[in-house]
Amino acid sequence: MTDAPLKLFNSLTRSLEVFEPIHPGEARVYTCGPTVYNYPHIGNMRAYVFADVLGRTMTWKGLKLTHVINITDVGHLTDDADAGEDKMEKMAAEKAQSIWDIAEHYKQAYWADVRALNIRQPAQWTVATDYVPQMIEFAKGIAEKHCYELESGLYFDVSTVADYGRLARANTEEGEGRIEAVEGKRNAADFAIWRKTPPGESRQMEWDSPWGRGAPGWHLECSVMSGEVLGFPFDIHTGGIDHREIHHPNEIAQNQAHCCTNGLDDPRNSGARIWMHNNFLVERSGKMSKSSGEFLRLQLLIDKGYHPLAYRLMCLQAHYRSELEFSWDGLGAALTRLKRMVMAWERLLQTPPKDAGSPTAIEQILSGHNDRFDGAISEDLNTAVALTVFEELLAAKKISSDYRLELLRKFDAVLGFGFDGLTRADLRIRPKAATIGEEQVEQAIAFRKELRAQQNYPALDRQRDELAAAGIEVMDGDPLGWEWKLA
Ligand code: AMP
Ligand code: ZN
Repeated sequence: MTDAPLKLFNSLTRSLEVFEPIHPGEARVYTCGPTVYNYPHIGNMRAYVFADVLGRTMTWKGLKLTHVINITDVGHLTDDADAGEDKMEKMAAEKAQSIWDIAEHYKQAYWADVRALNIRQPAQWTVATDYVPQMIEFAKGIAEKHCYELESGLYFDVSTVADYGRLARANTEEGEGRIEAVEGKRNAADFAIWRKTPPGESRQMEWDSPWGRGAPGWHLECSVMSGEVLGFPFDIHTGGIDHREIHHPNEIAQNQAHCCTNGLDDPRNSGARIWMHNNFLVERSGKMSKSSGEFLRLQLLIDKGYHPLAYRLMCLQAHYRSELEFSWDGLGAALTRLKRMVMAWERLLQTPPKDAGSPTAIEQILSGHNDRFDGAISEDLNTAVALTVFEELLAAKKISSDYRLELLRKFDAVLGFGFDGLTRADLRIRPKAATIGEEQVEQAIAFRKELRAQQNYPALDRQRDELAAAGIEVMDGDPLGWEWKLA
């Protein structure tokens, strides 16, 4: 049974709400995707692991999921408000490459991370530049009542919709502090929905519009793509917590204008019923910032010998609404935990089923595990508790292996590790800096067997020390035989 009420934290009301699909039996979810001007860092990927768990939970609940993630390849400025340059144009100029090539390269890199983290493919990836005509139509529809033109573009007047900024809990005074002034703006929080290319300049990406040649604003993109594909109002809109402050309040204002609805006392007037935000992954030394040289990409973790799913586990160990501090020790601990799970799973696959005993007794025990898992995941996606329920069932030796596997596979479909396709050996990734190759290690381990047969213990000890110096840990008695030493 998966019938615990699904409670989700709605940032708009700042409260837990029972999820009730707008379209019975369905869940329609939109996730703000990456701006593909650089590699994603692992903090960015936390946002997609979170959205993935949300989607998998909808599937667990028996709902038909339609998930959309966008790819922003135009319009996102270096500042979330209206200041700065277009991130894509800036990177293209720095690298002297076409924006289209930059976008393609980083989109592929992002997708590689998505695959490595077992993030399921959404029903649709919407790419911003594919929706420019629809963006112009949307803007035309709201321009007269809600917008005004300045030399630099078409601006949205936030005073024309009720409850502007409620999602951010921002009042006007705060708003004035946080947004850089553009001359002529009626309200500090007003934002560009179309930015004109300045006279005498040209951009790699620009389109004709009733307000001149230029490019759409970043907030407009998400309103248009979510509404086009999912239809307003849809069920859930997700993003990182930074989006709660500017990007999503602005999307909401546009949606209100477009749908001709007003106040936000009914959350559906915002365009979505529930707005969900993951908290940040933080790192003390500033390696999360893309401007620092060696920033924390998933590939860096892999180069250092960590399986990417150890990072997925690290995310799931914390609640998505809590800040999570990254550390290599923490990642190492997650990898060890993942290894234990994989080893237990491998043992379970090899354990023959036994006479199960009374079917009703077994069903009762299993439904206890099932209900605790369902209860945890339904409580605003409490993956930390769900993981412990998973591990308890994995270790519940009294239950016949076939029964355990059947339920564990369902749990795994929510947690998203794919244990059936994972072996302990997969978790042993060669660190890029390793000075010794796998073949050499295998030879040394084979030689070790000879030494043991000769009972040459001094030589065995010496060999262990030599291998340790080369970054290899010998695990006598373990079928795997050896392991890279991550230190
Ligand atoms: P961007 O590519 O900058 O638009 O960001 C992609 C997603 O990552 C957005 O949902 C951001 O809110 C989210 N995000 C950015 N930094 C972090 C972080 N350190 N931890 C978690 N999520 C983040
Ligand atoms: Zn967005």
